[in-house]
Amino acid sequence: MNEMSGISKTLGRRPGRESSTREAAPRVVLRRFPLMLALALVVLLALAASSIAFAAEGVPTAEEMDPPYDGALIDPTGEGANFAAQETVPVVPILFPMEERIVWQNTWGAARDGGARSHRGNDLMAPKMTPLLAVVDGTVEWLNMEAEVSSYNGVPSFNIMLRGDDGNDYFYIHLNNDTPGTDDGKGGVRYAYAPGITNGVHVTQGQMIGYVGDSGNAESTGSHLHFELHLGGYADKGASAVDPYPSLMAAPTLAEIGPPRVFKDVWERDWFFGDLMWLYEREIVKGAGDGYFYPESMVTRAQFATMVVRAFAGHMPVLTQSEPPEFIDVADGYWAHDEIAMAAALGVVRGVGDGSEFSPDDSITRAQMAAMICRVLDLVAGQTAEVQHLPPENPPFWDLTTGYWAAGEISRVVQVGVIKGRSDGSFDPEATSWRMHTAVVIARALRTMEAELAASVP
Ligand SMILES: [Zn+2]
Repeated sequence: MNEMSGISKTLGRRPGRESSTREAAPRVVLRRFPLMLALALVVLLALAASSIAFAAEGVPTAEEMDPPYDGALIDPTGEGANFAAQETVPVVPILFPMEERIVWQNTWGAARDGGARSHRGNDLMAPKMTPLLAVVDGTVEWLNMEAEVSSYNGVPSFNIMLRGDDGNDYFYIHLNNDTPGTDDGKGGVRYAYAPGITNGVHVTQGQMIGYVGDSGNAESTGSHLHFELHLGGYADKGASAVDPYPSLMAAPTLAEIGPPRVFKDVWERDWFFGDLMWLYEREIVKGAGDGYFYPESMVTRAQFATMVVRAFAGHMPVLTQSEPPEFIDVADGYWAHDEIAMAAALGVVRGVGDGSEFSPDDSITRAQMAAMICRVLDLVAGQTAEVQHLPPENPPFWDLTTGYWAAGEISRVVQVGVIKGRSDGSFDPEATSWRMHTAVVIARALRTMEAELAASVP
């Protein structure tokens, strides 16, 4: 149970809140004044009671976390009313909390709330949904996993307290609370925290933990990360904060200290990472030559055929045909000519239309992908690629008719778990696939084949 959620639930029922829904005549307001005063007292008492609870848990309210800006982000004098100059500010060895280093102003100590408070952190302005990284190894706490609404503005606010293994605490405030592309306040937990991040989870430095946003009292100031550094651990309702600027300025980015990555646009956290690296080590998948994998790019029929040939070449029968079939739209000099010719000779790929053309640069569809994989599995299993997979009486997906050209092949590869259907029970056979999808399909098919081969050995 998140301590914050229970408390904000209580505060969310502040009686004064409802007055905004209806315009009241001044006379009515006057008549209600004693009642409102009484309610206000109740609220104050409730707040006092909850700050005792906060003090016990050390969890601050949204108001305490980041007092509202009083106009300018930066105090022009550089010395806010409450500027708390710290003589010796330690440089803590941390990672920069975003993948890319950004430029920001040190607003530590700047006046907030008309000088009533001073700013206890640094504001790193960044677009919503910018990934936030763990600056050190540690355990995450104070996550609002119930998306409980804040008493501050009635919408959920999301934060992370990273309890560093180094003994310091790192507070990330204003995480995203919007549906991407909007300012609706309805993004929920999914667009606030990275997958798998919840209270008590131990994270490693550089791990993605959440996303930049404008929740809490940043709704009107633009999305940013309010970052606090609590040397020796969070205490005294946040008074333990020290100026994080020198540490942030000295912090390297993940790219600077992380292990060299194979692809600049693929991270260990990506769902397809394991399968992709498995293929990369076997030299089945190569990058685009510029260090990127482009996981969300379309895959052409030529690219997929090439991947299939590279993946299964060692298991394919030796070609006996001296003259492999040619397609009129795959010239001798075409980059994937040899792979397509080999795949065609084995019967793994077929032409389109009347079979004389291959359409190598068309995006591959899910049905075509299933059919090619099915034929490869048949080949390795000792069957000819010409075997006809009879469509099942009742295709396993509602959008596959019994007569659909690849219904049988789709059923076979789905059965062995190489390709999966959509969550709505469809297969979506004409949809195109991205590079990350095809990589995972090839990896699964290769493992399926190796398992079938191993099982057939007496
Ligand atoms: Zn701030």
